[in-house]
Parts: sequence; structure tokens; C-alpha cells
Amino acid sequence: MFDYLVVGAGFAGSVLAERLANGLGKKVLICDKRSHIGGNAYDHFNDDGLLVHKYGPHIFHTNSEYVFNYLSRFTEWREYYHRVLASVDGLQVPIPINLDTINKLYGLSLTSFELEEFFEKARQPREHIRTSEDVVVNAVGKELYEKFFRGYTRKQWGLDPSELDASVTARVPVRINRDDRYFTDTYQAMPKYGYTRMFEKMLDSPNIKVLLNCDYREIIDEIPYREMIYSGPIDSFFDYTYGPLPYRSLEFKHETHNTQVFQNAPVVNYPNGQPYTRVTEFKYLTGQQHEKTSVVYEYPRAEGDPYYPIPRKENADLYNRYKTLADAQPNVHFVGRLATYKYYNMDQVVAQALNVYRKIAEERSARTAATTILPTSASRPGFVPQSSLRSSNGNGVSGRKVV
Ligand SMILES: Cc1cc2nc3c(=O)[nH]c(=O)nc-3n(C[C@H](O)[C@H](O)[C@H](O)COP(=O)(O)OP(=O)(O)OC[C@H]3O[C@@H](n4cnc5c(N)ncnc54)[C@H](O)[C@@H]3O)c2cc1C
Repeated sequence: MFDYLVVGAGFAGSVLAERLANGLGKKVLICDKRSHIGGNAYDHFNDDGLLVHKYGPHIFHTNSEYVFNYLSRFTEWREYYHRVLASVDGLQVPIPINLDTINKLYGLSLTSFELEEFFEKARQPREHIRTSEDVVVNAVGKELYEKFFRGYTRKQWGLDPSELDASVTARVPVRINRDDRYFTDTYQAMPKYGYTRMFEKMLDSPNIKVLLNCDYREIIDEIPYREMIYSGPIDSFFDYTYGPLPYRSLEFKHETHNTQVFQNAPVVNYPNGQPYTRVTEFKYLTGQQHEKTSVVYEYPRAEGDPYYPIPRKENADLYNRYKTLADAQPNVHFVGRLATYKYYNMDQVVAQALNVYRKIAEERSARTAATTILPTSASRPGFVPQSSLRSSNGNGVSGRKVV
């Protein structure tokens, strides 16, 4: 008999499997319907021996020391500051928009002070901020909106920014200095030997059994367990009772080139024109030395694997109906981006999983020692408030952390 059946071996499932096995000594079976661990963060060496991210580039960044220290138990790190160029008007310029972006784009030599004035003149204040278009035009004006944001958003979401809620774009990151780092988080690093190696260490415990190529539905009636950690899609868990939750998908086209360097930056964004949104060259991310180089093109799709929850009110309402069912489900914990229908970065999923673990551990000790007085969540050691994990990002009008 297993204490826990963990569904999904991505960050959500693997962190919980590791904690339950090593923190509480529980017997854990973790299964994934894919042929590998790591979820969407899975990386592997391709036929040419280049380390690539199968499901698109994953760059680790966080403001949480707690999350960073936790993951550091399973990997060493390679310091890495992500940089992105946008291909606009035949030029490649830094994104988020900074001093160099504007000077290069318009052939100017503005100072930071003058750039502030430039933005002030460019912006078109809108009295009522209702849509994502309003947010961007209000901040940087119509011209920069058209060049950098509109096309990217239309490709990414299949919706015009004027159809997306203002809440989707919290703010438009523009910089008046020359800082071209994509993120500004305290910790920015890549697992030194890759994500999959890190997951292997996480799951390397005598208390954990891993079952791949296995949908949990194939085994729930065969293999006894006490509780479930579920990190798959919440609508699927309830057999789409209220209908499917809408997602945006991606198709990845991987290529290897017989050259040492393919492009001028780790990622080049294509806001306009091309059918793909961005091209990533993995060697920048991994630091690997190799005579060839591998890149991936990302093509947004309406159908396919569920990647990005579509941030519209009606979808949030639908999710809430499923959440009501989930809350009433005994002995099942719903964790991760698919089970909670939220675009989370990796650090946010780790924090969410660690918080679920803490709750399970507390409930367990409360059961065994009914007199224990528990601290409030905010004062609990190791409790990671999700709000503290908001991290910077650079580009486009989107509800996800565009990475
Ligand atoms: C293109 C892309 C780029 C990203 N880039 C970044 C980035 O640069 N930085 C960052 O911080 N975050 C990034 N993210 C987000 C990151 O991928 C997620 O935060 C993270 O993968 C979430 O982990 P998870 O465990 O919740 O979900 P997942 O990684 O999706 O894991 C869920 C697992 O459950 C399995 N599963 C589902 N249903 C079943 C079933 N019925 N039975 C068995 N197994 C099942 C799936 O196969 C999957 O392996 C990116 C996401 C995408 C799509």
C-alpha cells in the first residue's frame, strides 16, 4: 500500500513526492503519462549531443531565497542572466524596451533624461483602462504598441489586445537605462547539469517509485494508496463535467545547425510577420560548448497540449466551478499549473507545492498531538507567500509571465 499516489512528475508532483518521502517518510508512487520525468521543464541531449528543452526554453529566476535554497539541495547552478532581442523594422533591439532600443530604432542618441521626455510625449493617456491595448497605449503610445506588442499578443493568444482584459497586462516594463536583462529577480540561474538531472536527484529515494508512460486512470483501481496528489488538468479529473477549460497551445520545431552560433541572443522575438513568436538558441542557456548549435521555434496553436490558461473572466468562472468540486474531494490535493488553472513560473509552482506539503505535515502533526498550538500561516517558518514571487518579465501583452 502506498501512502501517496502522485499524478504528474513535473515540479508540482516531484517536489511533493520528494517532501512526503524524505520529510515524512511516506511511501510514494509517482506516475506520469509521458515517457519522462520533469514535466514541461524536461531537458535532454538530442541526437547531436546538444542539451535542449523539449517543451521550449525554461529559464529559472526567483525572488524567493527559500525556493532557491530548496532546489539547491538537488543541483548546482550556473549563473545566467537572460537577454532577449526583438526583431522590429529589420533591426534586432533589446526587449524590454530600454535606452538602446529607442536609440537604435529611431537612429537617436538620447540620454536617460531625454528618454523619459520621449516616453512622456509618445504615450497616449487613456481615461478608462479597460483592455490590454489601453494599458500599453497609455504607457508607451500607439507606435511602440504596434511595433512590439500588438502582433506578439495576437500570435500568442489568438486575440487582439483590445479583446484581452486590462488585468492581463499588469504593467508595461520600459527602462530608461541600458539594462538589457530580461528579468530582475534576485536569483537568476540554470541548473548546472540540466533540469532532468535535478529531477532525478529529487526523486532518488528508497521511498519513491516512479512509473512512466502511465496515465493514473490505468492504475487507480489496481494499486492501493491512501491519498492522491494531483497535478494534471483539473477539468480532466472531473471528466469535463462542466466542459473543457480553454488553453492556448504551442508547437515546437527543433533544429540543429552546423555552425557554432546561430543568432545574436539567447532568444529573438518576432512580434510581426513570421508565424512563430520566438526562436531560442539553447547553448546560451546551458553554456554548453559544441561545434553545432540547436534552436527551437515556437508556433502558437489553438489545439494541442495545454500550456497557457487563457486569461478571461468566463474561464476563471469555469475554473471556480471545478475548484468547488476539488475542494469537496476527500484525500486529493490539487497542485500545479494544470490542477489550479494558472500560469505559474517554475518557482511559483515549487512554492505552491512546498506550501501544500507544509499543510499536510501540519495536519498530520495536529492529528497526532491534538494539543499542539499551530502558528498562523504567515508566521510559519518556510511558508512562501505566492505574492512574494511575482517576478519581472519583459514582453508583450500577456497574462503569463512572458519568458
Ligand atoms: C513554453 C513554456 C515556457 C516556459 N518557460 C518558463 C521559464 O522560462 N521560466 C519559468 O519559471 N517557467 C516557465 N514555464 C512554466 C513552467 O513550465 C511551469 O511553471 C512548470 O512546468 C509547472 O510545473 P507543473 O508540475 O505544475 O506542471 P507540468 O510541468 O506540466 O507537469 C504536469 C505533469 O502531469 C502529467 N500528467 C497530466 N495528466 C496526467 C495523467 N492523467 N496521468 C499521469 N500524468 C499526467 C503531465 O504529463 C506532466 O508531465 C514555461 C512554460 C511553457 C509552456
